[in-house]
Amino acid sequence: MAADVDRSLSEEQRAILALTERVCAPFDDAYWLEADRAGVFPFAFHRAVADAGLLGVAMPEAYGGSGLGIQAAAVMMRAIAQSGAGMSGASAVHMNIFGLQPVVAFGTEAQKARMLPPLIRGAEKACFAVTEPDAGLNTTEIKTKAERAGSHYIVTGQKIWISTAGVADRVLLLARTTPLDEVARKTQGMSLFYTALDRTKVEVHPIAKMGRHAVDSNIVHFNGLAVPVEDRIGPEGDGFKIILHGMNPERILIAAEAVGLGLAALERAAAYAKERIVFGRPIGQNQGIAHPLARSWMALQAADLTAMRAAALYDSVAQTNRGPMVVRMTFDAGEWYALSGNVPAARQRLLAVAALDPKGLGPRAELRLADLDLRAGRAAECASGSPVQYQSRSRPPGPQPRRSYSAIDTSR
Ligand SMILES: Cc1cc2nc3c(=O)[nH]c(=O)nc-3n(C[C@H](O)[C@H](O)[C@H](O)COP(=O)(O)OP(=O)(O)OC[C@H]3O[C@@H](n4cnc5c(N)ncnc54)[C@H](O)[C@@H]3O)c2cc1C
Repeated sequence: MAADVDRSLSEEQRAILALTERVCAPFDDAYWLEADRAGVFPFAFHRAVADAGLLGVAMPEAYGGSGLGIQAAAVMMRAIAQSGAGMSGASAVHMNIFGLQPVVAFGTEAQKARMLPPLIRGAEKACFAVTEPDAGLNTTEIKTKAERAGSHYIVTGQKIWISTAGVADRVLLLARTTPLDEVARKTQGMSLFYTALDRTKVEVHPIAKMGRHAVDSNIVHFNGLAVPVEDRIGPEGDGFKIILHGMNPERILIAAEAVGLGLAALERAAAYAKERIVFGRPIGQNQGIAHPLARSWMALQAADLTAMRAAALYDSVAQTNRGPMVVRMTFDAGEWYALSGNVPAARQRLLAVAALDPKGLGPRAELRLADLDLRAGRAAECASGSPVQYQSRSRPPGPQPRRSYSAIDTSR
């Protein structure tokens, strides 16, 4: 099924896809079932990915990587999840691919030379420590602090849900260096560090959970961890801006992984629908089975195109100026959701674009929203059999300008 989409891949991306499929092939369902059942990190899989050179897929060639960008990494992560490794396989390696993009973008030459090669070789594993119990998505409220003491910072605080902290050698850590009430903007005063996870000063407590059991999730206590100043990435206080260079590729890669997982589920469901015979014929011949599978295929196509488009955009924009790209990606996601019929998701993204970018893509997003509302009104009329006074949620009440379909510019 991915073949339609894969026609757009470059030769290098196809090579990455083929290599990833080869690396994943020996790690069959029995391997992943046992890793999940035992709750043991898939070390052999991580080693195989590293030995194939795939951990460096999006890292600069100067430090041992392949420099192929986030699109190639997305192709690779989708293939890992689709192989049957699912999120256990993907989470075992993905932090090592997106996590250090802030170091690539903002690290000094000395930091890159010291930090990137061991990660690419698979000699070190990294975890990503941002989330806190009292500051989930609201990152600016984090309480973990890093206080300067001469040539070091002393870090105290607590993080939660930190994947792979049980097996990682290093941590990419976001901490406050200036208290929240002393900064002009909430996003200021946080700093980013990439440093050794010294377990004499860091306690890691696994969280019991169902699903993705092979990859540990943890509460992590920092009890006065001394972090050398040379392990700070970028200027003090700019950590929030800098860590977005890890979070943005993270979102793209996780989207690609989710598509891979969906494809794996769909392939298995379709195979079972052909194989399972009830009332003398395969259950897949019943519309009640075939149609939801077809709808899932359409949704996966839309999600795949969106994720790959986001990856291509990410790669096409300079390292340090990716703000407009986020708007463009959000707009594209809204468009794809609209085309695949997921109107609530389309509305959510298009409203965000209208708010984020009132002079750029905003007007096009508003037109698209009005179009969705118009269709919803028509659908309501058809369903009720009589004209419905439909109140657009995208435009203020009152007379609306006449508009035809051709007014919607979908060119790119
Ligand atoms: C398996 C797993 C692995 C993870 N690995 C890591 C890791 O390695 N490193 C790390 O730092 N973190 C990790 N996380 C944390 C993850 O990034 C957080 O779960 C995520 O940031 C959301 O935080 P939260 O769970 O506290 O949700 P909350 O912030 O409590 O949000 C809860 C819900 O409310 C919604 N919500 C919140 N505010 C608003 C708003 N203003 N408007 C609309 N909706 C809102 C959210 O969308 C969400 O659906 C992991 C989480 C899980 C479950």
